[in-house]
Amino acid sequence: MTGGPQIHSIIRKLYPLCRSITGNGVRESLSIIKELIPVNIHEIPTGTKAFDWSVPREWNIRDAFIKDPRGQKVVDFKKSNLHVLGYSVPFSATVALDQLKEHLFTIPEQPEWVPYRTSYYNENWGFCLPHRQFEALEDGPYEVLIDSSLEDGHLTFGEFLVRGALEDEVLISTHICHPSMCNDNLSGVATAAYLAKHLAGRNDLRYSYRFLFIPGTIGSIAWLSLNEEKLPRVKYGLVLAGVGDQGSFTYKKSRRGDAEIDRVVINCLGHLDKNFRAMDFEPTGYDERQYCCPGFDLPVGCLMRSVHGSYPEYHTSADDLDFVTASSLEETFYLLLEITHAIEKNRKYVSQNPKCEPQLGRRGLYRKTGGEKMGKNDELAMLWLLNLSDGRHSLLDISERSGQKMDSVIRAAEALSGQNLITPQN
Ligand code: ZN
Repeated sequence: MTGGPQIHSIIRKLYPLCRSITGNGVRESLSIIKELIPVNIHEIPTGTKAFDWSVPREWNIRDAFIKDPRGQKVVDFKKSNLHVLGYSVPFSATVALDQLKEHLFTIPEQPEWVPYRTSYYNENWGFCLPHRQFEALEDGPYEVLIDSSLEDGHLTFGEFLVRGALEDEVLISTHICHPSMCNDNLSGVATAAYLAKHLAGRNDLRYSYRFLFIPGTIGSIAWLSLNEEKLPRVKYGLVLAGVGDQGSFTYKKSRRGDAEIDRVVINCLGHLDKNFRAMDFEPTGYDERQYCCPGFDLPVGCLMRSVHGSYPEYHTSADDLDFVTASSLEETFYLLLEITHAIEKNRKYVSQNPKCEPQLGRRGLYRKTGGEKMGKNDELAMLWLLNLSDGRHSLLDISERSGQKMDSVIRAAEALSGQNLITPQN
């Protein structure tokens, strides 16, 4: 079985790569994911229209540095890819300190950390560095090199479909466009990849599961524009982002607010994390903004731990390999297993013995002594199921009303249907 250390180790492999919304960093990341699952790698040419957007030019970078007046490299892309403003245009010159400073980005409140900054849709060049280092820069000419290219090429994304018995789909989407940061975005990438690997190894799935590893915003917009005909199949969806830090879980509901995915996730979290927070939809954050646009309004929520922008390490060099923990990643992974289990098993049953309670003891369904396979909660779940299985209440309805865990309600349904006391409604 998958454990937190395995998920953490794939994050370690992906961490050094310089990802962006296009370019070789995404391709190399997807080839690492390919070691786990046979993900399809799609390439969309620059200029391809996607609703109101078009695929930008492809950005790649080989080297970048700033040399001080003594010729010492004081900022070096090879030490951390966060040092370069994402999508920096090629640049090579010797510049005065004043001119250089217009292209430097720091976080004065966190003087030891390197910020993460990008300039995707506005041509610029720049460097990010610790504020402490910025303040110590002396006067004099600085040699600056950004050996990058911004040319017609492709936008790359990964897609992996695990087929179940139904064409109806569960969409799991995660962004893969950030350079060396772990919670945002590698925690989502790694947990999604391991969930995909787990589901692909099963042969009893009811739903099909579509995994997307895409650059934020432009990636989901491009995918939606290419796949409009598939959208009616999406019955549940989750954007995974920032799921490896040690904060409590946060679930941001779909735009609909009462979609079944919202109820399932809130139900599972309610039994796992007493400090979890459920938020209403708002048009900020990650790719749920695109999935939940009014034209599609898909039932897609967003699962996070600490919310983007709410913790100081967010979008900085401090979102590193120590900021995400194996135990948080493992807990997220098992939560996702519970969520998919609930989705798979949720259905309505009809009691075959609606006139008073059936005699459970005679059928071996009543616990004789403590510690047997059927626990007290399972018995309670059975009583609820027998009472509410009138063809109008799903297992999720019964779990919500009884306060019993979905897992327990599912086990009880399997025990009762095994004795033909309830039968699934088609
Ligand atoms: Zn981000």
